[in-house]
Amino acid sequence: MVPKTNLFGLTLADLQQICNNEKMPKFAAKQMADWLYKKRSNSIDEMTNLSLKVREQLKEKYVLEKSLPVDSQTSVDGTKKYLFAVGKNEYIESVYIPDKDRATLCISSQIGCKMGCRFCVTGKQGFKGNLTAAQILNQIFSIPESSALTNIVYMGMGEPFDNFDAVLKSIQVLTSEWGVAMSPRRITVSTVGVIPVIRDFMEKTECHLAVSLHVPFGDKRQELMPMQKPYPHTEILRLLKKYDWSGQRRLSFEYIVFKNFNDDEHSARKLVEILKHLRCRVNLIRFHSSEGVPLEGVADDKMIAFRDYLTNEGIICTIRASRGEDIMAACGLLAGKKADE
Ligand code: SF4
Repeated sequence: MVPKTNLFGLTLADLQQICNNEKMPKFAAKQMADWLYKKRSNSIDEMTNLSLKVREQLKEKYVLEKSLPVDSQTSVDGTKKYLFAVGKNEYIESVYIPDKDRATLCISSQIGCKMGCRFCVTGKQGFKGNLTAAQILNQIFSIPESSALTNIVYMGMGEPFDNFDAVLKSIQVLTSEWGVAMSPRRITVSTVGVIPVIRDFMEKTECHLAVSLHVPFGDKRQELMPMQKPYPHTEILRLLKKYDWSGQRRLSFEYIVFKNFNDDEHSARKLVEILKHLRCRVNLIRFHSSEGVPLEGVADDKMIAFRDYLTNEGIICTIRASRGEDIMAACGLLAGKKADE
């Protein structure tokens, strides 16, 4: 039997194609998009402005499928980590972070990751597969806080630019008028710097970009991040300088501060040197040690001194607030544990 196609996760163009194939009226595509993304329906039967005959016809080949989280952990500060099953014994995580007038969801784009960053638990688990656009969007649509979300960050498990077709589809659903109609300025996509895809992302979306830089020296960055070899940070910066960052679109660099590795003045000075002609900001991130990762975080005063150095040199720099530390450990840990069970 041919498996049924999930309508959830499809773009308006995909739905128009279905209408075409099924000889349904063209306007039904827009109606379906409305049920899927605005009214957040859970079944084809709920699409009551499609005739009963059309609904029955659709149900022969299509389904509307979403899946609830299989587990969650709540931090004392309100941060919540959700676990979703995405196949046989495979799990991904999303993290809900409420903060005053904001509610951010950090979502995953792959099951595991190929990038192999040395400080990352997900990287250590290796790559198990790509998420579909439906599985990416499901994380947003299937948590209890779904309708309260104000911001989405693609910073969970996986490298979004290694699964860009699905990521782009999910962004189209989120930002299009026929979809969720969310402002692209409320969406940030993070990458280690997959150069060819950065170009695509810049042309096809208006979302913010966050580049995981972590080290301003090539050889040291490669020690930490093997992807430095195919995509050197100097080339990433050269490319990013070609774009206009003077508008509302934001470019940020993520910098995890590791003890005795990238926390010294020499690194801070180099960081200023390579970023000073680029309109951007730097997010300093605290590192929390995890098993099997031979790196340590730094004390608060060191973080503050590093930030102050950059700020005095004219670089906008913030220290990312640590949230959900009691449940967080490291991204990928919960999914790994569940799969081991
Ligand atoms: Fe992959 Fe991100 Fe982990 Fe690097 S930090 S291995 S890109 S999930």
